[in-house]
Amino acid sequence: MNLQHDIKTSSKPFVIAGPCSVENPEQIKSVAQDLANSGRIQLLRGGIWKPRTRPDSFEGVGAIGLPWLVEAGKAAKLPVCIEIANKHHVEVALEAGVDVLWIGARTTVNPFAVQEIADVLKGTNVPVMIKNPINPDLELWIGAFERLEKAGIADLTAIHRGFSVYKHPKYRNVPSWEIPIALRERLPHIPLICDPSHISGRRDLLLEVSQKGLDLNFDGLMIETHPHPDLAWSDAAQQVTPEALFHLLDQLVLRTAVFSKDAEKELDEIRHKIANLDDRVFDMLSARMQMSEDAGELKREHNITIFQQEHWAKMKNKRLAMSENYKLTPFFIQQMMEAIHLESIRHQTKVMNPNIDTPNNE
Ligand code: PEP
Ligand code: MN
Repeated sequence: MNLQHDIKTSSKPFVIAGPCSVENPEQIKSVAQDLANSGRIQLLRGGIWKPRTRPDSFEGVGAIGLPWLVEAGKAAKLPVCIEIANKHHVEVALEAGVDVLWIGARTTVNPFAVQEIADVLKGTNVPVMIKNPINPDLELWIGAFERLEKAGIADLTAIHRGFSVYKHPKYRNVPSWEIPIALRERLPHIPLICDPSHISGRRDLLLEVSQKGLDLNFDGLMIETHPHPDLAWSDAAQQVTPEALFHLLDQLVLRTAVFSKDAEKELDEIRHKIANLDDRVFDMLSARMQMSEDAGELKREHNITIFQQEHWAKMKNKRLAMSENYKLTPFFIQQMMEAIHLESIRHQTKVMNPNIDTPNNE
């Protein structure tokens, strides 16, 4: 199959669904049939080898599950995809008749593993989806695409599944949407799929994460679906029944990136006003940094340090306390103040130590 073509020509969103792990022939057959009957799912997923954090977790049924998945897909008339992490996985998956492969987040981080997969795929035209690496490293994600492209694998798709963090209050893997947005900028020809299941880690967040993905113009969704989610052998808390998936799809608001002429004119006017405000913001930031240099001159004359802990804390806390008046989140204010402060330190460093070169504040 040609996955890029299917994604681009399918009605939006292109949906990949199926269980986190293939568990037995009945489970995968039943979920495949329910998904196919709806006519709303384009690709059936199922994990065969599961990269798990702890060794005592269920690590997938292994190669024995491949014919269960392939048969279930055939019976339901759905192409099937699995995660592969090494040369052996690729070989047996292709021999079993798997249609599409994906490289998991824990594999994308490892250039040796990605290169091994690229080498064994050379000469085939198998569609491959590449999940983002678990760490927020855009170049590493792009590097994986380059390794596959160099091996002649052209039918590539990206899956955004969020990034690992220690104890996040909301997400299992933080989305950091700016990274898939940057990927799209760098590789505009690559379709982009959102995996809200692994971003959220909990089924009550699937709808909002899916909607966000579609609002950011993602091409499709990969959502883990199981006949009895609570009994799933892996990722139980984030899986949903096929019925719940259809309900979620019903609730999604599909928006278009193309405007009517009237709406476009109105939006242009608003954008023009925003650009004028941005002009003022930057003029003011520039003037503010000139002031910082004046402060730097004075500090140099009196031989005092650039960084004044108490003053910095006071400045920042003043703005944080006004977050409601500004209608800006404390998170944004914190980041904005840190960026301004860092740039201000750079200006003062330049004045106070003219021979230190710190173009990016390293
Ligand atoms: C999965 O899709 O079940 C999986 C293990 O995903 P990830 O590589 O995103 O953790
Ligand atoms: Mn999973």
